Amino acid sequence: MGDTGTATPTPDTRKKWHELVDAINNARTSYYQHDAPSISDSEYDSLFRELEALEERYPELASGESPTQTVGGQASEMFEAVTHLVRLYSLDNAFDDAELSAWLERVEKGLGNVPDLLCEVKIDGLAVDIVYRDGRLASVATRGDGVTGEDITYNAQFIDAIPESLDSADLPDLVEIRGEVFFSTENFERINDEQMASGVTPFANPRNAAAGTIRQRVDKRWLELNDARESSGSRSAAKIERLEHEYERAVGRLAALGFTAHGIGAREGIDVTSQSETYALLANMGIPVSSRMAVHSDVSGVREYIDFYAEHRHDVEHEIDGVVIKVDDFALQSQLGETSRAPRWAIAFKYPPEVVRTRLLDIAVNVGRTGRVTPFAVMEPIRVAGSTVSMATLHNQYEVQRKGVLIGDMVFLRKAGDVIPEVIGPVIEARTGDERAFVMPDECPECGTALATEKEGDKDLRCPNADGCPAQLRERLFHVASRSALDIEGLGYKAAVALLDCGIVANVGDLFLIDADDLLACGFFTRDPGKGESGRQLGENAKVMLANMDAARTRPLWRIVVALSIRHVGPTAAQALAREFGSIDAIASADVERLAEVDGVGQVIAEAVVEWFADDEHREIIDKWERGGVQLVDAAPSESELLAQTLSGVTIVITGSIPGYSRDEASAAVAARGAKVTGSVSGKTSAVVAGESAGSKLDKAESLGVPVVPAESFDRLLEQGLDGVLQR
Ligand SMILES: [Zn+2]
Repeated sequence: MGDTGTATPTPDTRKKWHELVDAINNARTSYYQHDAPSISDSEYDSLFRELEALEERYPELASGESPTQTVGGQASEMFEAVTHLVRLYSLDNAFDDAELSAWLERVEKGLGNVPDLLCEVKIDGLAVDIVYRDGRLASVATRGDGVTGEDITYNAQFIDAIPESLDSADLPDLVEIRGEVFFSTENFERINDEQMASGVTPFANPRNAAAGTIRQRVDKRWLELNDARESSGSRSAAKIERLEHEYERAVGRLAALGFTAHGIGAREGIDVTSQSETYALLANMGIPVSSRMAVHSDVSGVREYIDFYAEHRHDVEHEIDGVVIKVDDFALQSQLGETSRAPRWAIAFKYPPEVVRTRLLDIAVNVGRTGRVTPFAVMEPIRVAGSTVSMATLHNQYEVQRKGVLIGDMVFLRKAGDVIPEVIGPVIEARTGDERAFVMPDECPECGTALATEKEGDKDLRCPNADGCPAQLRERLFHVASRSALDIEGLGYKAAVALLDCGIVANVGDLFLIDADDLLACGFFTRDPGKGESGRQLGENAKVMLANMDAARTRPLWRIVVALSIRHVGPTAAQALAREFGSIDAIASADVERLAEVDGVGQVIAEAVVEWFADDEHREIIDKWERGGVQLVDAAPSESELLAQTLSGVTIVITGSIPGYSRDEASAAVAARGAKVTGSVSGKTSAVVAGESAGSKLDKAESLGVPVVPAESFDRLLEQGLDGVLQR
């Protein structure tokens, strides 16, 4: 390049630097975000060394954006290669029932019958290989290519879940344990929040988070920190503080990793004959094993296990991406043997992926039924968790900023079961420079009214034109018919639009005054005349809608309250109001103080209710509904409709999984018996229900002296209340 060794880089040198940085960042993205290296480790190392040499010569190039200044990139060259004592195989996958059946048939054919099959959940983590010699931790390595991994012993000392020594009276000379290091969902989300807060690409999934965490140069950070502490100087205090913070965060993340064993390699002084026996032995030695493991002697048991965790995937405290099925008996495993890649005696049944990458095409805004203006992501349609997704809410402009997404970005999209899809964050490394920031509009896109917050400090912008904004009128009408409100089949979004466009209703107040004649005036609700008919005829959709509106007139009071679109009033608050007051009139005449003291209502909702009924237009809606035959009073409930209020006045926190209940079902069950359910443990908590792998909430309960109810006593808690389950 002909440079003379001065500290000022030539344009060519800068270009070279950019090329190296791009190549390294791309490789890093492939590795961390997709877990699919785009280049080999040695190629990566040579690029990295070239970049380091260049920056050594031209220190001004070594800016904060250089991969040499961040941790991840240095990892693979620094961790020494470790050859595993016994090779770790990867598993073959089955993506559907047919592939599973094919595997089961091969096993049956190979052995002459169906053997005992061990089922376990497949943790979305990072596979590691741990060697204990004479009961002491000797080495920890990543799986790598199965033959050779990277030494992570130094970092593993901070992982509490991997004990320093085995707890056994009869210590084996040698045992090589395989398992998964992973983050619980709770820790994963916390770490991604931290990532985003510091402007770094969030991890696509817990596996990548675990990989990134395990690859931190904690050793180097420690040395750096010590160097800084030793060198005195006026500017070093701030540096020491920064280094301390970074070191503590790195170590803290390691400590937050969990570990679960899922296999055994080399061993001396251990006599085990099956996978399940191995787990029992390891558990006795203090090694964490999965409590969800089950052995089935028939194929239907295996299928039930798979179906169970497909349904309860998100009740597990960590992400799972499938179920692993293994022939339990070691002798039978040997009989089946391995292919060059994978054992024939095991298979991973994979659930559909739930985090995908797609392009953020635009960020548009939606005006809701209470005027709230919400930005949402418009994406290239993509299949995730069994459905095609092209839109996801972004909640508010601050959430857009927090996620750091730009229009045009590649983004990570997560969809968990029936939960609404969520944009996690951008793939910063995939940016081209053509992306642009989202700008929140200052006028309502539907009616042009200037947007405003309701009160200072609010995050949400609103369209204040509540009675005239076409978007709000439409959304409110649609909401009346929704499942949580009056559940009117036939009054969908298109029907709501047609009712307004044809002038049949001016707002929700007119809804229950319409009849068949009104609908005949609107094309959407009519059809061409058939034989022997003259003029437009009422369409089937209109008949369905009218019939369902009839049923809606006598729905329980709380549903009527939900249908009114009073801000903050959802089903829970509406039920509390209906229970307490019994009629719309009584709710409307209660003052803030009276409303606020109702359990499940509170000050904010009370104010919103009073404000809503103070509006004459709203009073008119009530009058019109009454004239339209809507029942605005609750009939007294019969005895059998009331569950015994065994938990009246009790505040419950539920943590971990409760067998037989999803989290929502468990919460609903205690709420239906009068309890208040809250998300965090405090001095006001009456009891914590702790299921399988309850986390920090359990610790908190113990430290506060809050009684803990084990999951197995949950049904008894419902039947008998707190007295029935707490020891005196
Ligand atoms: Zn508007």
